[in-house]
Parts: sequence; C-alpha cells; structure tokens
Amino acid sequence: MKWRCMCLVIHAPEDLRLEERDAGEIGPGQVLVRVGMGGICGSDLHYFHDGGFGTVRIQEPLILGHEVAGTVAAVAADVTSVKVGDRVAVNPSRPCTACKFCLEGLPNQCLEMRFFGSAMRMPHVQGAFRNVLLCQAEQCHKVADGVPLTLAALAEPFSVGLHAVSRAGSLLGKRVLVSGCGPIGVLTIAAARLHGAAQIVATDVVDEPLAIARQMGADEVINAATDSGWVARYSPDKGTFDVLLECSGNQRALRDGFTASELAEAQRGMLNFRRLTRAQDATLAGTWAANLELDRSFARSAEVDAAISRLTLAQVNAALRRYIDPARIAIVFAGDFR
Ligand SMILES: [Zn+2]
Ligand SMILES: [Zn+2]
Repeated sequence: MKWRCMCLVIHAPEDLRLEERDAGEIGPGQVLVRVGMGGICGSDLHYFHDGGFGTVRIQEPLILGHEVAGTVAAVAADVTSVKVGDRVAVNPSRPCTACKFCLEGLPNQCLEMRFFGSAMRMPHVQGAFRNVLLCQAEQCHKVADGVPLTLAALAEPFSVGLHAVSRAGSLLGKRVLVSGCGPIGVLTIAAARLHGAAQIVATDVVDEPLAIARQMGADEVINAATDSGWVARYSPDKGTFDVLLECSGNQRALRDGFTASELAEAQRGMLNFRRLTRAQDATLAGTWAANLELDRSFARSAEVDAAISRLTLAQVNAALRRYIDPARIAIVFAGDFR
C-alpha cells in the first residue's frame, strides 16, 4: 500500500514548507505510525530561527520534529511488539547497537546515534513531523488507553527530567533546586516531585514559566532577575540544597546554584557544563539523551496536561515565529496534515 506522506520541511531559517514525500516501504522489523501529536522542541526552534545551533547547521532540507506519538497503521510481518491500532509514543533515537557504548549497555551514548529531525549527521536524519512515519518496532512504546497522545508526545522530554533525577540519586527527603523553568525544567520538577523530594525551589528570569513551575509541583519559585537577594538567603551554613538540577544552560544560574547548595554532598544532574567557577567537593553528573528512561515516562503526573497548548498545523508557523508561548511548557500540534 502506498502512503501519502506530508512533511514539515525546513529549508533555511524561517523557510518552513509542507511537502509531499515518499513514506517508504515497510521493511523487516518496521512499523508505520500515523502521527497524532508532535511536541515542538527547543532544537526545532533553533533550526527554524537560526538554521541550527552551535556547529550543527542545516546543510540540506530537513523534516523537523522528534517528539511524536500516534497510532500504528501497519507493521511488518515479523513485528510482534505492537499491532495495527496500538497507540504509541515514538522514541526518536535509534542507537547503532554495535559501538562500544551500545555494547556497554549505554545506548544513549551511542557513537552512531540516529536521531529523528537532526542535522548532526550528513545526510541528515529526517524528522517525525509528518502524517505517517516509518520507524523500527523498538522505537514504538505502547501507551495505556487512558493516556492522551498529547501527553505521549511529551514522553521524550519528560524522560530527560527522569534521567536527570535518577542521576542525582535518591531524592527522598531532599531539598532540590531546579534552575531554569522551560519545558525541560518544569518536567524535571514533576520528575523530582514523583521521586519524593521534600522541597523543590525553582528559579527562572521570567514570571510565566515560574507560574507553570508551581503548577508542576515547585514549593517555591524565584525570579532571579528581580530578586537579587535569593542566593544570599539560601547560601548560609554552606548552602541549603542537597541537589541542584540545572536546566537553563546559563552560567550564572549554575554559579548561583552552586553557591546555594551544600558543599559536601550536593549531587548535580546537569544538562550543560561550561566553566565552573568554584571548586567544590561535589559529585557532578551530566545527562545526555535520556532514552534509558523513556519507558518510565508514562508514569506521568496529571499536572502536565494543564501546561500544554494544542495547535493545528496552520498555527505552527505562527507559533514558531513568536517562539513558544512562555505561559505554556510545550506546544503540541495535531499531526493530521490533510
Ligand atoms: Zn526534544
Ligand atoms: Zn552505538
């Protein structure tokens, strides 16, 4: 059966087009997913506005998108893990299974990772913002009947928060500081709450995401731009927090977070490291491509739904242009492109 495949293709900054492409033939071990919902990630925004990030640049037309969920439309004869009609979250990463990290059981560190909607490799790995998507059966994670596809589309970013939390060790009874309340930050707050943190304080420099942070389970929120005294309040006696989860990528947030955290046993789940300004006796944990946790991400908390905006395709262009609504953690759009 031939499938008509409509795709959102980025050609250059701010040049996003809806194009028809060949959906491809289903090969052994493969599944065709009718995409229902897609989450717009920060990386999609960077491709749209800047044509990439860091040294990663669009060198050829790229179908955007990697946070998607949908319904299985067809499976290869040898696929038994999912069947037609199953609702699935799609894991965007496809490790090679053969490099030294894959063999060590660390597929998230794969040297030959193929990640949907990524310009890191040439040719680029085409993305998942399309009405039908061909993927490997292992990439399809069945979701329970009660889980809406809007939430299933957030499985991948939520898995980042779950992974950061697992790197920080047990949070039971711990005081946790989360710096940065973008989508990853607030999903990390939800993860920390689920893992038994006693107190969660969240910082950002904009009020709207801080309001979402509260909805997601933060006990206290601080606008670091207007409340310059916050670090001093939390730094006496060698600091207040047991765990710092740095989700902003901002060097000042990192430095302030260190100052406010206890010297001796602070363990840090980090998304990004640059230069550290203070030598401390602390355990530092970097997180990268957290797919080890993707399965667990369906143990989601109901709060997440409150923070989602739903868009039709026609609104996606406009949404990308004005960046993500700061009052929402994630924008999820319907994948019905017809
Ligand atoms: Zn993402
Ligand atoms: Zn590998």
